[in-house]
Amino acid sequence: MKNILKLSVSFITLILLTLSACNNPKTDEEIKELALKIHESALVIDTHNDTPMRFTRSEFNMGERHDYRDGGGRVDFPRMKEGGLDGAFFAVFTGQGARDDEGNQKAYNRAIGIFNAIDKTIEKHQDIAGLALSPDDAYALEKEGKRAVFIGMENGYPVGNDLKKVEEFYNRGTRYITLVHTRNNDICDSSTDDRKPKYGGLSQFGEQVVDEMNRLGIMVDVSHASDESFYDIIERSKAPIMASHSSVRALSDSPRNLDDEMLKALAENGGVIQICILSSYIKQFPNPQRDSASAVIEEKLKLLTDNDSVARVELYREMRSLRRKYPSERANVQDACDHIDYVTNLIGVDHVGIGTDFDGGGAIEGCDDVSEMPNITIELVKRGYSKKEISKIWGGNVMRVLKEVEKVAASM
Ligand SMILES: [Zn+2]
Repeated sequence: MKNILKLSVSFITLILLTLSACNNPKTDEEIKELALKIHESALVIDTHNDTPMRFTRSEFNMGERHDYRDGGGRVDFPRMKEGGLDGAFFAVFTGQGARDDEGNQKAYNRAIGIFNAIDKTIEKHQDIAGLALSPDDAYALEKEGKRAVFIGMENGYPVGNDLKKVEEFYNRGTRYITLVHTRNNDICDSSTDDRKPKYGGLSQFGEQVVDEMNRLGIMVDVSHASDESFYDIIERSKAPIMASHSSVRALSDSPRNLDDEMLKALAENGGVIQICILSSYIKQFPNPQRDSASAVIEEKLKLLTDNDSVARVELYREMRSLRRKYPSERANVQDACDHIDYVTNLIGVDHVGIGTDFDGGGAIEGCDDVSEMPNITIELVKRGYSKKEISKIWGGNVMRVLKEVEKVAASM
């Protein structure tokens, strides 16, 4: 009897020791093991990639494993599975062109082409992926072991000046619209337009677009919008908003990032910032030669009008070769997690997530493609984030925002 008692005491001690090792992992191995377990159990969602631009190329097969080092892009279904990524918002992206009937029609046609390519990709791979229109869809697909394909529209340009298009895009599966891209459009001002602001924020038409998105149940995405646009949007929207791929300005001074006041306003609104792992949005390294050479190109860009598309393409090409000539150091996973820490400390863990911008410029040291996403979770575990907190960061928060947006739409 005494022996049995002794045996069960030491057995219980062993269990307690094992449990405490799990809760308080010490070695790198323990941390990794716990992180992978958490990563596996969470719904992991990336809110922004530009991979559909590859769908329109006939040779790209989303069901095949590629290597980014050979130009294979950073996302495909096999690597999503490897990286434990349950779902992502795939962008219907159009670059800003002329704001006239012809330009609007071209943008619309291009958007429809991308919607068609996304539909075809899902149809072709229905055994491993499915379209997600709601959080419920994403959780159901996760249970089936399939990748959830959400659709986000990057740049509201294809809406043109026809409000009815918003509903058409909703019916095609769009669940967020990034109102603007790198230049001002008819909806609102951009954070990076070289020219003067056009509206000083949201236009009158833009207000109607936000109302329509609220009515339908589409998240309003403020990434790429100017600071003035951000405040106009947040005041106008009856539902929580999102920044699908933006980072923290206090850590990397880019107009694409959100400053502390904006983050506080975002928290009050119940919204979420999805940290963008584009290296220069995460950390800026001094590079004086590149800076002075690119300033010359930027000056030239400022003088162009919306119709100078040939000259603009040429200047962008010069900019890209400049970047190759004076390469910058790259931010890493630790730097990216500093942004998550910053937001969590300032406004709480309920308002932060991740939007990689893979295939649109996103990628950092240690997270170069979608298969490496668990490295972020490993770093978060190292920093003491709990399973519950990590689940919120990886998908819980943005799914909460989408649910709220659905609720507001249902009440209108
Ligand atoms: Zn973008």
